[in-house]
Amino acid sequence: MDKIKKYLAYNKSVRVLAVDATQMVQEIRDIHNLSNLATAAIGRVMIVATMIASTLKNKEDRLTVQVKGDGPLSNITVCANSNLDIKGYVTNPQVELPLNSEGKIDVSKGIGLGTLTVIKDIGLKEPYIGTCELLSGEIGDDFAYYFNVSEQTPSVVSVGVLIGKDGNVKHAGGYIIQPLPECKEEVIDRLESINIKLPHMTQLMSEGRNIDDIAKNATGDSDIETVYENECRVKCDCSQKRIESTIVALGKEDALNIYKENGKLEISCNFCNKKYSFNEQEIEDLFSKQEK
Ligand SMILES: [Zn+2]
Repeated sequence: MDKIKKYLAYNKSVRVLAVDATQMVQEIRDIHNLSNLATAAIGRVMIVATMIASTLKNKEDRLTVQVKGDGPLSNITVCANSNLDIKGYVTNPQVELPLNSEGKIDVSKGIGLGTLTVIKDIGLKEPYIGTCELLSGEIGDDFAYYFNVSEQTPSVVSVGVLIGKDGNVKHAGGYIIQPLPECKEEVIDRLESINIKLPHMTQLMSEGRNIDDIAKNATGDSDIETVYENECRVKCDCSQKRIESTIVALGKEDALNIYKENGKLEISCNFCNKKYSFNEQEIEDLFSKQEK
């Protein structure tokens, strides 16, 4: 099972989150039969979403991350709860693009220009919504910019998804470093200089380093303290009940027309592709329940 950890460094003045999400990204690839481009793009979003979700406090809290770009992938949606059940989908899951000039998957071009939105439903009347422009479409930079402008939290964000020649995910993971308000100026300078030189996340993982090693390397503090540890996974919480609302939104007439034309009314979950089918009687019952 994939693992996420939270650490404190430099005498509790720096917060670090790190996640190994290799299995999760492979799973989302398998569920949606994603291209390499789509796998890398949604994988990076899922990695950061998992780290943000680990900061949710209450059991019922929910997180949604939306990346809306004008590139060929179009939109990416990732949802998570505080139990770290993660689900997501890409509008155009099979799009592929040539590698970029560095020989890497061109996530930036796949996403394009647009917005990054983070919605936290934390049991208040209105959910917290933070949004910013996409800086590069590379996701790591975009989230760093988001934390800076939307949450006023300067952050280093590193994410990576490495896909093997066989199309399987070899390594996927990331880290976020956030100096807390009491952090000394010299520590911030040190963090910046380390992170400019630090190899890419997936390269560190390829060298066999676990997230503890990576957190130590990325901060330059070998005495980091682990303060939280949890498992994370891809898991959908869809149900017949939730899908019913989609049919109600269609309206009775349209729902019955689709049923008559196709001999069935089948709706699949966007997140996990599970199919839910309804017969004529069930459609009738659904709407008569609504009318009551
Ligand atoms: Zn589902």
